[in-house]
Amino acid sequence: MLGEILSKLAPFNARLVAVSKTQPVEEIRRLYDLGQRVFGENRVQELAEKQPLLPSDIDWHLIGHLQTNKARQAVALASLIHSVDSFKLLQAIDNEAVKLGKKIDCLFQFHIAAEESKFGFEEKEAFEMLHSPEFSALKNTRIRGVMGMATFTEDRGQVHREFRRLKEIFERLKTEFFADRPEFNEISMGMSGDYDIALEEGATMVRIGSLLFGRRT
Ligand SMILES: *Cc1c(COP(=O)(O)O)cnc(C)c1O
Repeated sequence: MLGEILSKLAPFNARLVAVSKTQPVEEIRRLYDLGQRVFGENRVQELAEKQPLLPSDIDWHLIGHLQTNKARQAVALASLIHSVDSFKLLQAIDNEAVKLGKKIDCLFQFHIAAEESKFGFEEKEAFEMLHSPEFSALKNTRIRGVMGMATFTEDRGQVHREFRRLKEIFERLKTEFFADRPEFNEISMGMSGDYDIALEEGATMVRIGSLLFGRRT
């Protein structure tokens, strides 16, 4: 399955985040031995348990909602945090990164789904933050792009429209705030059920769990 997915990503130059939440370390090791190096966890606690048991050259991404009081652990363990969804959280991440003497890559998670429950910035909120002097004062966070989750629906047209919107938000941010930042170049969107759509709409990273590992327990 890994090879099949990678061959679908290749023409789009997109990268795979293997979402290993709830998977035992043996399963992660199996994909590692096949060459996969980027894994995504959605809970810091689970990441902290697995990380010491697995090879140190794994690139761990945090993809799930993060509470400010877990920011230190997240910064210490992850190379990229996909789920930055408030300025308060971003500040906490930056503070911890300064204390740890580490630069940390982050994505802004945007709320693009019709469902109420999903986390993420609204566009207006993000633009206000980016205009604020407090944002410019951040030291050790590097904003690399955006992340979003589409509505869980059979309506593929709707999923196309939601991912397209995330791409448009990315382009607007790039033009207005990150024009001189070549590292602002990532769009994390697409999961097992909709990654083909995400690729067509410009994903640079897809986050795939169940399709790779089988259904979660
Ligand atoms: C679980 C999860 C995924 C992967 O979901 P699958 O449907 O198993 O591919 C992707 N992104 C986030 C944020 C997740 O929590």
